[in-house]
Amino acid sequence: MMARLFNFNPGPAALPLEALEKLQANIVEYKDAGMSILEMSHRSPEYSEIHAQTKERLRSIFGIPDNFEILFLGGGATLQFGMIPMNFLDGDKTADYIITGSWSKKAYNDAKLFGKANVAASSAEENFSRIPTQDELNLSENAVYVHLTSNNTIAGTQWKTFPDTGSVPIIADMSSDILSKRIDFSKFGVIYAGAQKNLGPAGVTLVIMRKDVLDKAKDGLPAYLSYKTHAPKDSLYNTPPVFGIYVMYLVLEWIEGQGGLAAVEKVNEAKGQLLYGAMDEDPEFFRGTVEKESRSLMNVTIRLPSEELEKTFIAQAREAGLHGLKGHRSVGGIRVSMYNASPLAGIDKLVDFMKDFRKQN
Ligand SMILES: *Cc1c(COP(=O)(O)O)cnc(C)c1O
Repeated sequence: MMARLFNFNPGPAALPLEALEKLQANIVEYKDAGMSILEMSHRSPEYSEIHAQTKERLRSIFGIPDNFEILFLGGGATLQFGMIPMNFLDGDKTADYIITGSWSKKAYNDAKLFGKANVAASSAEENFSRIPTQDELNLSENAVYVHLTSNNTIAGTQWKTFPDTGSVPIIADMSSDILSKRIDFSKFGVIYAGAQKNLGPAGVTLVIMRKDVLDKAKDGLPAYLSYKTHAPKDSLYNTPPVFGIYVMYLVLEWIEGQGGLAAVEKVNEAKGQLLYGAMDEDPEFFRGTVEKESRSLMNVTIRLPSEELEKTFIAQAREAGLHGLKGHRSVGGIRVSMYNASPLAGIDKLVDFMKDFRKQN
């Protein structure tokens, strides 16, 4: 097998090697079941245990309080853009949306289909180069929720402290920074995340929902699109995405092995210091596209002095075993996606590569 690359893909993204190896060992025959986990009933004792354990691990690692439900759904984070307003908004209700990038804009566009969606703040005119401050938020008086994107995968910004929204629950799309650091659940009504950046493979979406928020969901929706269908059935109303859940279970085991979320958070901070530190030593050459206070620890966006140099950088980095550094077309340049499974050693190697590249150019 070819040496494993340092993988900076934005999503689907790197998974921990230990999790992949355990998956490989178990995929043909799960324990002594005589069949793969992919071939058995989602109501079998083997799968039931994985399902329950995955929730338990999430609760203990992330510190999810008992008054939150944990759901495993399909459809990606994108389905949540629509499901949230479908369940919680209607013609005369208002929800606040903070627009910090293309994902929040998509969520906002779906909300407009179901009720009043107020843009509480937007950094669109500044190319999404920063997170709005508390004073800039134009929150509605009677909003049913405030929606935000905790980490802007494309723009490279991240909320450092979540805004004060009074008693109005925050609904957060955490697709690209969930489980990258500890959070205070008291501000949140709903947290959702597609798994393929920081939790596992594509195909499962994690939804963490406060029970009193869930109680306010509308009735009369198609079964799959209603949270009230999934919660009382423990995400087993229909066949859940068993493969994705199993891999998430293995990824959570890996997080436990790392020493839990506090340890993972520390590594993520070290990666950020190393990479942003290298950029700050030479900001004319390695120009960050976002304001310092808003810098993401998950997705780092960099422009070089010319597009020509950017192309060369990406090609030569790939030859050096550093994969997936091409920026999103809307920002250009370089994007370093360094989720939990991306090791400090990869950033070390990248920073060395950057220094060499700078000398030669
Ligand atoms: C990737 C991403 C999405 C889209 O997720 P899907 O699972 O593909 O629907 C939504 N929000 C954020 C913040 C993302 O990074």
